[in-house]
Order: sequence, then structure tokens, then C-alpha cells
Amino acid sequence: MSNNTQDILDLYKSKVMPTYTPSLVLASGTGVTVRDVDNRVYYDFTSGIAVHNVGHCHPRVVEAIKDQAAAMTHCSNLFVNAPATLLAQKLVDLSGLDGKVFFCNSGAEANEAAIKLARRWGSQNGGRYEIVTMRQGFHGRTLATLAATGQAWCQEGYDPLPVGFVYADFNDIESVKAAVTDKTVAIMLEAVQGEGGVTPATEEFMKGVRALCDERNLLMICDEVQCGMGRTGTWFAWQGYDVKPDLFTLAKALADGIPMGALVSNAKFADVFTPSSHASTFGGNPVAASAALAVIDVIEEENLLENVQKTSTLFREALQALVDKYDKLLEVRGKGFMVGLVVDGDAKEIVEALQGQSILALTAGPNVVRFLPPLTLGEGDLEDAVDMISDAFDCVYGE
Ligand SMILES: *Cc1c(COP(=O)(O)O)cnc(C)c1O
Repeated sequence: MSNNTQDILDLYKSKVMPTYTPSLVLASGTGVTVRDVDNRVYYDFTSGIAVHNVGHCHPRVVEAIKDQAAAMTHCSNLFVNAPATLLAQKLVDLSGLDGKVFFCNSGAEANEAAIKLARRWGSQNGGRYEIVTMRQGFHGRTLATLAATGQAWCQEGYDPLPVGFVYADFNDIESVKAAVTDKTVAIMLEAVQGEGGVTPATEEFMKGVRALCDERNLLMICDEVQCGMGRTGTWFAWQGYDVKPDLFTLAKALADGIPMGALVSNAKFADVFTPSSHASTFGGNPVAASAALAVIDVIEEENLLENVQKTSTLFREALQALVDKYDKLLEVRGKGFMVGLVVDGDAKEIVEALQGQSILALTAGPNVVRFLPPLTLGEGDLEDAVDMISDAFDCVYGE
């Protein structure tokens, strides 16, 4: 078999279950760009779906992975590894929550852990188990996290789903209040919804959820799997709202593509899990933890939070200029480098046109184009990319 796009795509279609419909075969990445097997270069404004926050193959991360892989790739949780322990301390410090961390391997698993922790605590505190989640939210693909994801398109065909999830409307505190019963134990939400359309919570809503949780003795759980690790210009998106959750979850960008998830708690809920009450074979894997420690160093040393705030504003302004130019472009929304462009029409068509101009982007629902560039994106690359994005719209909508 030759190593070109069509041959590999044909093999993919015949041997890989069709849960995705990709059209590109990527071979390598450097910084904000990736290269396909036919040697064409693209700006990666997907960051591997919010994973490569420090860009592809950052030398610090590559070195950390290589060094740890040569020393030990896995040690099981029957023993302690230093990188995961140091990472737990880092995450607790960066969050200011003063609690503890449970490590796992993906976003769904981190949310599953949050759900289990909340239920375990609820079972000891009034026999409560219901969790209120937001319509248009997204929490993963395991049965419990799918039940937490209140959207018909991804639940279809999987009945019966685990019970105990109640849906409310995002940014509507009255709707959340109405969903809370004497069985409720937690409220779970994304501070900036990703898959659901790149929609930020309002400050009033986040504060309202916090106040409601305090009043009714509920856990506030923030799913930071997509919006965390600097993407919105603060370490964690909830930090942009002057509130503190009781639990929050991380995955995607945590270890720059080495699978890793984490559940972080405050002090109150730090010891709800006890020996044998929850577990993961690979959780806290030393290679992943070493990568994550390097990611945190890079974000700190290269002042990437500041870069997000500055460069994302320029990006938003450039997109707003396109919205002003084309009637079919309706709105720019999001926060930091989670950027949504609402279109009057099919977002997929736009993503294809962007790919034609060598820009990789995503959709978030039927009519939102989603841009998630690496946080390392500089002004020069941004200008270049904006020209290409502009060309793509000229192609679709005509000059
Ligand atoms: C991607 C995502 C998940 C699921 O993460 P996986 O690693 O794919 O299991 C959960 N929550 C949010 C907000 C996500 O964006």
C-alpha cells in the first residue's frame, strides 16, 4: 500500500468503525501547523479539538515525554509516581481550591468520576442522587456522561440510559431552580459550552448557580475538559467568573495529546472517595503526568494566558469585520481562543471551504463554525490565517 491520502482513507473506511467522517490523513505537526501525508501544510485551528494548547510537538513537552518514557512508562496505582504527585499539587495550587485530585484517562472518565463522587457523597447526605445538567451541554460518551449530555442527537439508540439526570436551560437560573428537587445532589455545567455552540455562561448565571448550590447544599461541578488549561485566557474558565466550583474536570489539553483526565476537588470533598471506592489502571500515568507538567511550565513561561487575551481579541475583531461584510455571517461569540462564528446556513460547508484554503476548523452544532487555535498563536500567523479565512468566505459567498 502506498502512503498517500486516498489509499489510507480507503483502508480506513474498510477497517475502522465509521463513528467519524474524516477526509485528511495527517502525518506531523509543528507549532500552529500540521502536515498531511501528501506534504500539504495547514493552520491547525482545531488544536486536535482543544488538545494542543501549547502547539504541536513543543520541544519542552517532547523532551519530557521522551525522558519519562525511557525511565518508566507505567507503574500502576499500587505504587506512587513522582510526576503525577507533583501534577496534583500544581493543579490544586493553580485552582486555589485547596483540595485533592483523582487522575484518569479522558474527559468522559473525569466526568464519570465527578458524577460518582457526587452520588457517593449524596448517598451519605440525605440519599440524594439527581444531577442537574444543561441542555446544549456536552459531557462525554459513556452511558452516564451521555445521560448527563441532554441532547437527543447523541442519545438516540442507547436506552435505557442511567437515571438521575435532569436538564435545565443554560444561562437561565430560574430553569435551574425549577429542576432542583429534594433528591438533587449537584449541578454540572461548562463555563463555556464547546460542542453545544461555543456559548459562554453569563456572570450572573455562574454566580446564581453557586448561590443555589450553597443554599441547597449541592456540589457545583464545572466541566473544564474543553474550556480549561488556559484556553479562555485564565487557567480554568470558571476563574473568569469570580466563583469557585466544588469539583472540576480536565482532560483534552491537560497532557498535550497523551491521554489524561483529572478530577479536582475543594477541601470539603477531597476525601469522599476512599480506598477501593474508585480506581483506574492507567490514571496518573507518569508519561502523561510528565507531559502535563511540561504543558503547565510552557503556559507559565511563555505567558500564554496573556497571549490568549491579546491575540484572541485581534482574531475576534478580524472575524467581526467578516460578519460586517457578509450577510450570511451572523455573530462572533465565545471567550479567549474558544471562538464561534454563527452562520446562516450549514457550518460544515464552511469548514470544508476553510480546509480548501488550508485552515483546519470545527463545527459546534449545525450552524456554528468553531475555531480553537493553539494558545501560542502569534500576530504574524494570525494575520496570515485571517487572509486565508477571508479567501474561504470569498469562495463560498462570492466577492
Ligand atoms: C470532549 C469533551 C468531553 C469528553 O472528553 P473525552 O476525552 O472525549 O471523553 C467532555 N466534556 C467536554 C466539555 C468536552 O468538550
